[in-house]
Amino acid sequence: MRFPIGFMMAQSRHRSRMEKRGEGRYPTVLMLEPLYTCNLACLGCSVERHTGKLKDRMSVEACFKAVEECGAPIVNICGGEPTLYPELPELIAGLIERNKYIIVCTNALKLAEKVFDKIPPSPHLFLMVHLDGMRETHDYVCNRQGVFDHAIEMVKQARARGYYTYLNTTVFKETSVEEVEQLCKMVDELKANGILISPGYEYESVERDIFLTKEQIHDKFKVIRDFSSQYKVNATPMFLEFAAGMRELPCAPWSTVNYTPTGWKAPCYLIGEEIIPDWKTFWEKTDWAYWESRKDPKCLNCKMHSGFEHSAVSEAMKTMKGKVQLGMWSVSK
Ligand code: SF4
Repeated sequence: MRFPIGFMMAQSRHRSRMEKRGEGRYPTVLMLEPLYTCNLACLGCSVERHTGKLKDRMSVEACFKAVEECGAPIVNICGGEPTLYPELPELIAGLIERNKYIIVCTNALKLAEKVFDKIPPSPHLFLMVHLDGMRETHDYVCNRQGVFDHAIEMVKQARARGYYTYLNTTVFKETSVEEVEQLCKMVDELKANGILISPGYEYESVERDIFLTKEQIHDKFKVIRDFSSQYKVNATPMFLEFAAGMRELPCAPWSTVNYTPTGWKAPCYLIGEEIIPDWKTFWEKTDWAYWESRKDPKCLNCKMHSGFEHSAVSEAMKTMKGKVQLGMWSVSK
């Protein structure tokens, strides 16, 4: 199975509850960024996400308020580096009490110190370790030597301790598809639970030319899609078809809402046209139809997993063939 059964059931229950209520748009994932402090400064990361001060972090109460207001069953704790958030054990315990599924997106540098022996493994908790390529590429993207080897050791230890552990890779210009396949093979070698693969987004604040054009994304993802069925890849087949330029999809920025130390980021995790302090204004005043259309210049090259996976699944659910394909994909591997 690509994901634990409880996680898949929670998503499917949420989808049918929202559909019964006639909600056309609803969040499934909250990208919760309790801090903008990081122990790395990766080349592909937006500058504000790793230059914040720890004292400006969000309170745990503010995190829970955002979780309750948006109602998403999945909370993806990112940032910044979540393991640097001093209240992480309290936050995760509170989210499990609220029956949420939690993804901790981490560079793994502090897993031993901040997670192992402090936060117990749980079927509700997934560690998502960032690995943007094999040793040379990952250390280059992270701007530091030795990060790859450390992350690999942490994945091994996390699995041995019983944590659900996934790899997360962003494809940049320097990334070769051969490297992506090597990473997929490593998932089995490391006994990890899967790998999420997504094209990088070209942030305006990132000056280096490391991002792919849409055509380059299509070329790389055609190859990735071809080998993906052999491995535990966690992006759906429909999303990979979209990334490979074989189908079009509307964006669904409302499916993955983003709460930051300064407020709700509209319209999405990638572009903050506005930062809105309160949930109601963010949800009701954002022009979702405009952002779904992808006609904004900032959306032209975007093929990010966070924007399109919900649309990929909705598309599959429209036909019996799509439902069967999605069901088979979910239980294979
Ligand atoms: S297309 Fe990309 S940048 Fe535009 S709203 Fe969707 S996720 Fe955000």
